[in-house]
Amino acid sequence: MLKELTDRMYESMGVSAKVLAFGKKTEAGLADRFQEIDRVAEYNQLKVIKGMQDARVSAECFNYVSGYGYNDFGRDTLEEVYANIFHTEAALVRPQITCGTHALALALSANLRPGDELLSISGKPYDTLEEVIGIRPSRGSLAEYGITYRQVELTPEGEFDLEAIREAVGKQTKVVAIQRSKGYLTRPTLSVEKIGKAIAFVKALRPDLICMVDNCYGEFVEVLEPSDVGADMVVGSLIKNPGGGLAPIGGYIAGTRECIENCAVRLTSPGLGKEVGASLGVMKDFFQGLFLAPTVVSGALKGAVFAANIYEALGFAVIPNGTESRHDIIQAVEFGDPKGVIAFCEGIQAAAPVDSYVTPEPWAMPGYDSDVIMAAGAFVQGSSIELSADGPIKPPYAVYFQGGLTWDHARFGILKSLQKLADAGMVTL
Ligand SMILES: *Cc1c(COP(=O)(O)O)cnc(C)c1O
Repeated sequence: MLKELTDRMYESMGVSAKVLAFGKKTEAGLADRFQEIDRVAEYNQLKVIKGMQDARVSAECFNYVSGYGYNDFGRDTLEEVYANIFHTEAALVRPQITCGTHALALALSANLRPGDELLSISGKPYDTLEEVIGIRPSRGSLAEYGITYRQVELTPEGEFDLEAIREAVGKQTKVVAIQRSKGYLTRPTLSVEKIGKAIAFVKALRPDLICMVDNCYGEFVEVLEPSDVGADMVVGSLIKNPGGGLAPIGGYIAGTRECIENCAVRLTSPGLGKEVGASLGVMKDFFQGLFLAPTVVSGALKGAVFAANIYEALGFAVIPNGTESRHDIIQAVEFGDPKGVIAFCEGIQAAAPVDSYVTPEPWAMPGYDSDVIMAAGAFVQGSSIELSADGPIKPPYAVYFQGGLTWDHARFGILKSLQKLADAGMVTL
């Protein structure tokens, strides 16, 4: 009875019986994977609750604070909670950090000085960081301040190239950057275990090097975070995993007291540091989003695994593949044809609770070097912990799919994407 009702609902929302049957068959084979994801979420939920209990979170934490924000109790408590969860000495978690790129730019510019060198050991960083670093000449880049940059590529297998790292570390090297997630590349995402080994190698070369991990999209996917395996700073966006879909803005940096103090004086002003920066009423959403984040991430992960298995079965290259373990919430599907990228994104858009009636189109985006198509009907504009897909319109014409505040929504979005591809004649079921 319920089953027929649900099937009819899918049909009324534009998912054909064929597409639905294909989805059901795929889902039936994923019970073990889903159970494993639930177990990680169980652990992380406890970790978050413990972090809040240990910091004695109370209703006063959610009060509205404006002005300078001296003694902003909620803000200071939230930063303690982040430090508890990431097992770091300190954290900076603020609505004044506008997004992930800003958090990363802050972490770098705060801890590098003219004449220092930044070394990326996980290859090319995320697109928007090219302008931060000055890989693409840009106003205000680190390069303009006399900070040099080098990168060591991952091996073709996606491993850290330890010998090349040893050679690249020089007298000027000050910060070593590692990007956990693949971002807009089709390399594998790095596990926390691998990151830990690379950090240990770097620290053996020079214990004073600062290891910073771009943790975007990785939070709560595993039970350990890079800060548990030696990272001096982990950096991310609250419009992704740790915001749990509720944070309306924000970024975080968790790390050593020294690094975080550098970030604080850079964010506000020398002499002021963490003492100022009013939380402007967002604290309830920051706390509650963090509380929900392990569950939200588990739903997004199920969606990613589901999508991988659907599109792999249809013969497309998917990264990660249908069976490998997950270290972030991004799923890449290579269509080899812009038409596939566009149809996929149209399906995700059509499944959204917000703006489902609009048709996404490829467009030039600030910070990106090709047109990008983005599908998102989000409660928080541009949020990519909500069900979303982006595809730069350049070879290999891959779409990067992520998020979903609930697994049921992620499933629906993927079925709609499959429907659009079937309608466009790109797949035969
Ligand atoms: C999203 C992302 C960023 C940038 O975060 P924004 O909030 O989009 O500015 C940086 N690095 C990685 C790996 C990302 O996925």
